[in-house]
Amino acid sequence: MAIQYDYHMHSSFSTDSDAPAQTMVGKAMEAGLKGICFTDHMDLDYPPLYFPDDPSAFTADPELIHHEISRLRDVCGAASGDFHIGFGLEFGMQPHLAGRFEELAARWPLDMVIASQHLVGGLDPYYPEVWEGKTHEELIRSYYEEMLSNLKTMTQWDTLAHLDYIIRYIPDRESFLFDSYEAFPDLIDEILLYVIRSGKCLEVNTAGYKYGLGQPNPAPSILRRYRQLGGMNITIGSDAHAPQHIAIAFDTVRELLLSMGYERYTVFRNREPIELPLAE
Ligand SMILES: [Zn+2]
Ligand SMILES: [Zn+2]
Repeated sequence: MAIQYDYHMHSSFSTDSDAPAQTMVGKAMEAGLKGICFTDHMDLDYPPLYFPDDPSAFTADPELIHHEISRLRDVCGAASGDFHIGFGLEFGMQPHLAGRFEELAARWPLDMVIASQHLVGGLDPYYPEVWEGKTHEELIRSYYEEMLSNLKTMTQWDTLAHLDYIIRYIPDRESFLFDSYEAFPDLIDEILLYVIRSGKCLEVNTAGYKYGLGQPNPAPSILRRYRQLGGMNITIGSDAHAPQHIAIAFDTVRELLLSMGYERYTVFRNREPIELPLAE
């Protein structure tokens, strides 16, 4: 069965998206999905050097999002009964934030929480200067080490997003021979085992296709390894920031996952997992 839920997407409540939530919902319905989950950025204490004039850069306002999602649920409920609009947040992990994430998760009626590592050494690897003066190996290793240690502080999370996210931003990616798993097998194993033992999910993020990686994040080698280690729980999301990227490459990724032995994917409602078949 086709993947019917896109469980990672942004709207204009995120600093890096202009897409009204209503436009995203309209497009997802048009694409034949049965539901989506908005996961706008909650990168509390995002490094101020990048947006000096915007102290709330990459920190969405849950009150506004909740209000808009409630309104859209009313509008869509009237139009087409069972399309589900999930209220999620993408928590940008940092060592000191777990307590504040806990408060947010207690306060808002969230469907799902995504845990993401967006920074390395307190900086955003999206910016090429972060890569200067260090080897790729050093920076990527630090990224995974920080991800693992931050994840261990987190009590409120349902899925670990785009595990090898940092490879999207390797400046000379084309000339850099690189396999996400083979480059750091011990560290990646530790992260995967931590996800499995926590009973949480690993996200399969299809935005890699939009960035020209030709593969999801994490890379197929990591998804294969997760399965080998006994990992089965996955969530699937496009990380769309614009309507045209909703459900990007979902059919391709479904085939890939089936070929690796995955049988189900998970969506969340009220933070409770619901498993859905990939094959039928
Ligand atoms: Zn992210
Ligand atoms: Zn995202």
